[in-house]
Amino acid sequence: MRAVQVRDHGGPEVLGIEEVDVPEPGPGEVRIEVAAAGVNFIDVYFRTGAYPAQLPLVPGVEAAGTVNAVGPDVTALSVGDRVAHALVPGAYAEQQVVAADRLVAVPDEIELETAAAVMLQGMTAHYLSNDAFPLGEGHTALVYAAAGGVGHLLVQLAARRGARVIGTASTDEKLDLARGFGADDVVAYTDVDIVDAVDELTGGEGVDVVYDSVGATTFDASLECLRPRGCLVLYGQSSGPVQPFDPQTLNRKGSLFLTRPSLAHYTSDRGELEQRAADVFGWIAAGELDVRIDRSLPLAEAAEAHRYLEGRSTRGKLLLVP
Ligand code: NDP
Repeated sequence: MRAVQVRDHGGPEVLGIEEVDVPEPGPGEVRIEVAAAGVNFIDVYFRTGAYPAQLPLVPGVEAAGTVNAVGPDVTALSVGDRVAHALVPGAYAEQQVVAADRLVAVPDEIELETAAAVMLQGMTAHYLSNDAFPLGEGHTALVYAAAGGVGHLLVQLAARRGARVIGTASTDEKLDLARGFGADDVVAYTDVDIVDAVDELTGGEGVDVVYDSVGATTFDASLECLRPRGCLVLYGQSSGPVQPFDPQTLNRKGSLFLTRPSLAHYTSDRGELEQRAADVFGWIAAGELDVRIDRSLPLAEAAEAHRYLEGRSTRGKLLLVP
């Protein structure tokens, strides 16, 4: 079978496609024929070495597909089952071996490509809006990169929970998309000062929560945008990692809260994983969550996919289709 391999850390050019042996599922595992693999920023961090990983590696931590082999001791899954996962390495491949307890069933009414598009970013939007900071009516949330992969889903789920949403994006097209997904207000944060804009939009109050996926270039402003006792949910770093800072800053700016959450810790329990996936699939099936698949590229174009993501071009989800 074919799989993308990273033999040395580096730029997108290190994503080469190779013929490799078809992997066999061991005890507790199944093999899936990958219908689509999601492309995520975490794949970039493993490719560059920003996150530690052993080489060579097959990138990709999100996929949907059909079970085509079942290992010993697996009773819950059978050949032909439609399944999906997030955070299992090795997805940029025609086939992938996955622990059965990391897979969720994909309902018949959900296409496998759609499932692959929401396992990581959709469940992230779910835990961010439900649990990392449980949004409700009366809250105002600032969502960065509101037309991006997580962003376009988070805007919808925040609005669904009754919050007022201020979305940021860098182009007019993305700002229009963010508005279409339900942002009440949008800010061209590369052109105007986000702190001034939030100040004006909230009558000087500040927002209850900032969902910051951008990191290095936005962190300081994010703290400034919060009302006293507000919460900064720093969940990503698309512009680079945030520098170490003095916790006393949180006191000075109004007894603020800061969390740096990860999907892994919000789906570590099997019941929680199933519930988040079921909610997201249910909303899609009911036509209540709009999943925008921006581009689907062949596996052999993984390098182009990474250039596109890092080049700030994504408006919604990016997929690789073997
Ligand atoms: P996006 O599709 O949102 O793409 C990144 C966006 O960030 C860009 O489109 C751009 O939007 C904005 N951006 C701002 N500055 C830069 C820059 N210097 N380089 C590139 N992009 C920039 O990506 P994802 O939704 O997939 O992921 C966003 C972040 O969230 C990543 O860091 C990812 O690792 C993290 N993440 C964290 C999770 C968690 O559980 N903690 C789970 C999922 C993702 P614009 O042009 O509008 O500014």
